[in-house]
Amino acid sequence: MFRQSTLFAILSAALLGGCAQVSSTTSSTEATSPTAPKNIIMVVADGMGPAYTTAYRNYQDNPDTAMVEPVVFDDILVGNASTYPAQESGYVTDSAASATALASGVKSYNGAIGVDSNRQPVKSVLHLAKERGMRTGLAVTSQIVHATPASYVAHNESRKNYDALAESFFDDRINNGFVVDVMLGGGTKYFEREDRDIVAEFIDAGFQYADSYNSLAAVPRGEQVLGLFAPVGLPPALDDKRKNRLAYLTEHAIKHLENDNGFFLLVEASQVDWAGHSNDIASAMAEMHDLALTMDYLKSYVKANPDTLVVLTADHSTGGLTIGAKGDYRWSPEFLKNMKASVSAIAMAMTEEDAPGAFVADQLGFSLADDEVAHFDDVATLDDAERVKALKAFLDGKTNTGWTTSGHTGVDVEVFAFGSGADALRGQLDNTDIAKRLMAFVEKRPASLATSPVDADEKRDESNIGTDGEGCDFKEDWRCM
Ligand SMILES: [Zn+2]
Repeated sequence: MFRQSTLFAILSAALLGGCAQVSSTTSSTEATSPTAPKNIIMVVADGMGPAYTTAYRNYQDNPDTAMVEPVVFDDILVGNASTYPAQESGYVTDSAASATALASGVKSYNGAIGVDSNRQPVKSVLHLAKERGMRTGLAVTSQIVHATPASYVAHNESRKNYDALAESFFDDRINNGFVVDVMLGGGTKYFEREDRDIVAEFIDAGFQYADSYNSLAAVPRGEQVLGLFAPVGLPPALDDKRKNRLAYLTEHAIKHLENDNGFFLLVEASQVDWAGHSNDIASAMAEMHDLALTMDYLKSYVKANPDTLVVLTADHSTGGLTIGAKGDYRWSPEFLKNMKASVSAIAMAMTEEDAPGAFVADQLGFSLADDEVAHFDDVATLDDAERVKALKAFLDGKTNTGWTTSGHTGVDVEVFAFGSGADALRGQLDNTDIAKRLMAFVEKRPASLATSPVDADEKRDESNIGTDGEGCDFKEDWRCM
């Protein structure tokens, strides 16, 4: 009952514009940050529970010193956030409910994209930023219609309705303009379809289109850009041509978003979660490294542009990652440092090799004992799934990594922030507080920046809610969760 009435209070506040409600939660903030940041960059590391940041610090450790050196996350930690969804979904959230909470300040059910428990649309901080005349962007390593980015942009009762979500990205309007100015990630499958070519529609509407990382670099500064670099999600960091792909996309998104009115950018390290679902410690560390490079870049950006706020958090933790397992007080990340490809790519390629065991040793980047080489010669005769499983089990054994689930867990996640207004994110928060505090900042931006009233014939909400999308067709169900 309590949570239900809280939801309604939040919702009615949101519908009324939220000014009074949000300012009451940020009164201490106003004392310390009288001016709102001009630019807000929200970074979501999907699935990055606290074990991931600790694991990454150990993974980056210089073993020649006694100390475990700090990493890019350590001097920006400001607090912790609870992640539980609306009461009907219990204590363990999915990415859709959590992203809706992080985007809109409203708790919803697992699967909800920008709608509340009554399937009614809720306004996100990205929508609010657009209403206030800021430019808006996304830079993610999943398809851009995946749960986290979609919850900032669109409204749909199910995260699985990818085609309908892609249509919302084009059809929805705020102040007679597109909701998002710069969209970088994967997803041609949902945008270039037999029944509707949404890429062509964006091009005809004046967007620049990039279908490769290199062509993105050639787009002149300040454009509206759609960049789709893969049919669904981008390749894993370990297999991508650009291992720093998230840092690269983030830098390019900012290049196009910078303007006098400020911008709101959502960055998502989407595949930390995918590595967690797959219980793949090598990919988990590689995705964390791309995130770390992104945060390094953002630190340099804020140094040059101190009127910018950067917030980093996770939507939940994935996989129940543990550093040490099975009663053994040991974790050995050194076995992950010289991987030449992901375990999936190695598993696929090894069947083509005359000496699979020797090939695996070369790809893993460390020498194997004779019996280990013989083991992988045998593994090469197994089916695809069994080979991947054998490689992951081998690395879990070498590193002594543990996992408790192929799904999510309900632990709190860390909150990191730096730049203008970062103090507003301090302490123990709920994921909804993060949205409310960012929305309070956007509310403080001069209203005169907004160019025109909201378009009356918005087609979005009613037409998309309740329609049947094509559903989740990943081979692995968890990619939809
Ligand atoms: Zn997930």
